[in-house]
Amino acid sequence: MSKLLHKSMLDFPYLFSEIDRDNFHCPVGWDDIVYNLTKELHSIYPDLKVVQVKEKFAGLRYYIEPVPPELRNHIYDIIGKAEEEAYTTCMWCGSKEAKQGDIGNWIVTACDKCMEEKQAERKQQDEEWEARKKELMNKVYKTY
Ligand SMILES: [Zn+2]
Repeated sequence: MSKLLHKSMLDFPYLFSEIDRDNFHCPVGWDDIVYNLTKELHSIYPDLKVVQVKEKFAGLRYYIEPVPPELRNHIYDIIGKAEEEAYTTCMWCGSKEAKQGDIGNWIVTACDKCMEEKQAERKQQDEEWEARKKELMNKVYKTY
């Protein structure tokens, strides 16, 4: 369990009472955004239930169960603002100087420093994979 989910469940147990283990994946750089969002929503509507929190296409997704019609616009505005904030917040370090980029086939939101680090990591993993593949193929086809 992530630190964020642990803290969120302690501070807002009802909101997370039905969260599924597979349905809470928040990049660590967005912890504050998600915690503050939950806190604000809890103050407006304590009967809220969070269904899913995740990163998708480099953006934050925060899904809730239906809320009373009179609160709907207000609540979705607040969620929308947090999701917007996540688009310019680094998924790893939380820097507010982040933008979208690619790491392999994965679209991420990251600051320049984290983007460089993660791309270098990925490049090294790709090279290791290629070397391993080559080694294996050489072994297999040597028998001809
Ligand atoms: Zn960063």
